[in-house]
Amino acid sequence: MPWKNGNPPFYNVWRDMLRRCYDKNYTQYKDYGGRGIKVCPRWRYSYKQFYADMAPRPPGLTLDRKDNDKDYTPENCRWATRAEQQQNQRRTRKVTIEGTTYLAILLAQQYGLKCDTIVTRARLGLPFNEVISKIRRKTGTPFKAIKISSKRRRARTHCSFGHEWTEENTRWGKNGKYTFRVCKACHNRRQKERWARKRLRAAQQID
Ligand SMILES: [Zn+2]
Repeated sequence: MPWKNGNPPFYNVWRDMLRRCYDKNYTQYKDYGGRGIKVCPRWRYSYKQFYADMAPRPPGLTLDRKDNDKDYTPENCRWATRAEQQQNQRRTRKVTIEGTTYLAILLAQQYGLKCDTIVTRARLGLPFNEVISKIRRKTGTPFKAIKISSKRRRARTHCSFGHEWTEENTRWGKNGKYTFRVCKACHNRRQKERWARKRLRAAQQID
């Protein structure tokens, strides 16, 4: 057996792969087992077979899955440099926003943001318009509408996105006995976002 004298690095590759997928206390579990990533039975129950399929490991390279959403299988695994691996993860990273799953890279390109920004915000569980917002948040402070009294709200001259409450930009809505203003510019913006989401969903269904 190749690991008779302690655990050679190759054995650790196999052990860490299993930990990522099955050890709930392992730090990386949430990105692997927590996402439903498994190890194929051939490898899960046999270090020997993993060794037979993947050895030798070129120096300095790490075990990488070609498709980030698929399991550890001989077909889906290769040896890659850290840079290649990170690039691969970025290309295929998915985020779930308001119950819909998107490719993070597509959102990043569409809204001119960094992929990491999209991923971080989506993990905070922010709504779509905040995930793709150009406005920077201070780290750790969630987006939060500041609560102001209705009197002061009425006294405002601009909506929270900075559009002026002119007559042609304002529509009045009614909810029971309450009347409220709707910013038409914001309404259009939200509509555009809805279309963008629709297009993205369509694009994702193709690939
Ligand atoms: Zn507005």
